Amino acid sequence: MQQLSLFKTGVWIQKIQVSSETAPDQFYTLGRSIDGVQGCSCPSWIYQRSPLAQRRPCKHLIRFAESLERGG
Ligand SMILES: [Zn+2]
Repeated sequence: MQQLSLFKTGVWIQKIQVSSETAPDQFYTLGRSIDGVQGCSCPSWIYQRSPLAQRRPCKHLIRFAESLERGG
């Protein structure tokens, strides 16, 4: 439930859903906060213990950034 509460706090101004590569019917939510911090609802991002702004991007965030750079 930690995952849901994080994404209900209202800090995320932009959200987008992506599917998991390993499980296509599993969706994760990527969000961007008003401070420009990016987050994901997957366990590898959620369970990092660092503060939001210091977390490392998970593979979903990296893949999303790469798709933006490619222009699509
Ligand atoms: Zn992720």
